[in-house]
Amino acid sequence: MRVPYYENPDRMDKILTALKQTDWAEFVEPEDFGLDPILAVHDRDYINFLASCWDEWLASDPEVAASPETHAFLPATFALRRPARLTSSLRGRGGYHIMDLSACIVAGTYKAALTSANCALSAASSSFTFQNSSFALCRPPGHHAGKDYAGGYCFINNAAVAANWLSQKGKTAILDIDYHAGNGTQDIFYERDDVLTISIHGDPDFEYPHYIGFADETGAGAGLGFHRNFALPQGTDDEGYISALDEALKMIRGFNAAYLVLSLGADAFDGDPLGTFRITRDGFNEIGKRISELNLPTAIIMEGGYANQALGNNIQTLLENFK
Ligand SMILES: [Zn+2]
Repeated sequence: MRVPYYENPDRMDKILTALKQTDWAEFVEPEDFGLDPILAVHDRDYINFLASCWDEWLASDPEVAASPETHAFLPATFALRRPARLTSSLRGRGGYHIMDLSACIVAGTYKAALTSANCALSAASSSFTFQNSSFALCRPPGHHAGKDYAGGYCFINNAAVAANWLSQKGKTAILDIDYHAGNGTQDIFYERDDVLTISIHGDPDFEYPHYIGFADETGAGAGLGFHRNFALPQGTDDEGYISALDEALKMIRGFNAAYLVLSLGADAFDGDPLGTFRITRDGFNEIGKRISELNLPTAIIMEGGYANQALGNNIQTLLENFK
């Protein structure tokens, strides 16, 4: 049986429609920054895999080539990283570079991932040039993608690419308010002290991504103390969420960040099919208000959020605080 894919284009349409009804949103196309800023946070082998996977699969399987629109690439086995070695077959590389079954690759995946990263970089560039805040309507999202792997609908870590680019201009913090732990972002910056990373999310003890995002993971090596996970319980409401947010904002102030990258998922919404939190529309307004009071140039990067009917209004409500 086919089930609908929660991460779908309708999500973007809903957000665009809501923003087009405002009198303050301006719309620009993303610029192209090339591969260098992407390769600054991702391994080359992994990006090469994303670039060629679909074509290789088409070439290797006549059945797929005969009806590509009814197929999507997924590995059948997954590498446990400690003993695993990168092997040369397509299925082998798939299991090495894809961490779960929610990041299948189809014809337009690589191009979409690159465009999404360029959206994020365009927002970062705007934050630097104009010292303002802007919103990157990224799809696919990015915060589950690590240095060399895809997962959770994510292929290139847009927020990490943007934050790494901004970190060359000034101290940069990433705040991830998607309902799910930003495991990829954590992975990419875990040993760095020049980018503070904070994620507020459902405790991985009960929630995806299950193996990372725990409260006692605080960075390693030079990065020790520069990562923080707020792993919250099921059913967290506005009040519980905002008290964690206030603590996160205090850390960002203490870090003296010059730029903020906000990984904005709206799946903490009460009624999201992939979440258990109970954040209201007023809650999103309050969250946006408090983050905007940091008064930092902020690149706001779209992540998850699957209650499509409410998504446009929730995003618009939060963004209104940055106008
Ligand atoms: Zn999410």
